[in-house]
Amino acid sequence: MPDQIPMVEYLVLGDSPHLEANECTNCGARFFDRRNACASCSGREFTKAAIPTEGEVRAFTIVTPFMPGTDPYVPAVVDCGGTSVRANIVNTPPDPEHVTLGMKVKLTTFSIGADTTGTEAINYGFEPAN
Ligand SMILES: [Zn+2]
Repeated sequence: MPDQIPMVEYLVLGDSPHLEANECTNCGARFFDRRNACASCSGREFTKAAIPTEGEVRAFTIVTPFMPGTDPYVPAVVDCGGTSVRANIVNTPPDPEHVTLGMKVKLTTFSIGADTTGTEAINYGFEPAN
């Protein structure tokens, strides 16, 4: 079985892939990147918080690249139990009929390629929950 490495530090792989935020122990603000101090309260202690894998689309845009051979994609902001997550909407046609504000989505992971030793890089997105 090939090794897998997450594209971002806050993506936790395994049997039930999920995102993990750094949560300020003082005020509860959540950050996906590593912080030395909380942007809300200047607190300096953080704990790991698992983010729910289901959420609702709060904002999105459909990007159609001018580069030939590059597919349109849908960057979005997804509210996962009160935490805003930026990700692309995937596994659905990139048009306003299939991507709507408030639609229910769930986290999914996918390989974006492997190196010569077979180690796969894994990224995440959200797909319609249905
Ligand atoms: Zn704080």
